[in-house]
Formats: sequence, C-alpha cells, structure tokens
Amino acid sequence: MAHNINDECISCGSCLPECPCDAIAEGDIYVIDAAKCTDCGACVSVCPSDAIHQA
Ligand code: SF4
Ligand code: SF4
Repeated sequence: MAHNINDECISCGSCLPECPCDAIAEGDIYVIDAAKCTDCGACVSVCPSDAIHQA
C-alpha cells in the first residue's frame, strides 16, 4: 500500500517537506513513489486540495 496524489494537485509544494521518507517528487502534478511511501499520512493534512489519499 501507498498514498497517491490525484489530479486535484495544484503543485503547491506543501507536502514535499512533510514526508519523512523522501517519497514525494515535484512535477506538474506531484508524485508519490509507492516503493518509498510508508503510509505515515503526514502529507495528507497539509494538502490544500485534498489530493492525497491512501491508494
Ligand atoms: Fe511520505 Fe507519509 Fe505521505 Fe507516504 S504518507 S508520501 S511516507 S508523508
Ligand atoms: Fe499537490 Fe497537495 Fe502536495 Fe500541494 S500538498 S503539491 S496540492 S499533493
């Protein structure tokens, strides 16, 4: 399991520094590397677009 960023992402960057596993990468839409994500959930609450969900 891993968290996933959907197309509601507005590329604000708020989630990036919250991840303790360096699993989030920048892009037109930010992307979570499922191999690195530990499902800690730290990124979810900072997203202004509610774009991050457990996959
Ligand atoms: Fe990183 Fe945790 Fe979000 Fe996964 S759930 S991307 S480990 S902050
Ligand atoms: Fe995209 Fe949400 Fe991350 Fe901002 S916090 S970059 S809107 S996923």
